[in-house]
Amino acid sequence: MHELSLIQSLLTIVEQYAGREKFSRVRSLKLSFGRLSCLDRKSLEFAFSVQSAATIVEGAALDFEILPARIYCFSCEEDIVLPGALAEYCPRCQGQDIVLSGGTEELKLLEMDVD
Ligand SMILES: [Zn+2]
Repeated sequence: MHELSLIQSLLTIVEQYAGREKFSRVRSLKLSFGRLSCLDRKSLEFAFSVQSAATIVEGAALDFEILPARIYCFSCEEDIVLPGALAEYCPRCQGQDIVLSGGTEELKLLEMDVD
């Protein structure tokens, strides 16, 4: 499971940061990823609950911001958020002259609340 190694590197980063910034407990973490990134929220939560045990992150609340799939439409000349996961047409003008412009972002740490 890809999520396990991602959470592992996230925890490593948080612990290095804790060493530098001298905090001893993390109260909450906010993560983000794109909805087309193949990451699964439930798997991330599971990996987190297993791997945070006995670390300074244990018991921290986990919050997610899931970034929507977006396309750039050359006819509308605009970035458009897709209502579903993927589309072959622009949902606004039905044009096919589109490129994917968002939604594949990998896991990122957005915010962290510490003691
Ligand atoms: Zn369009």
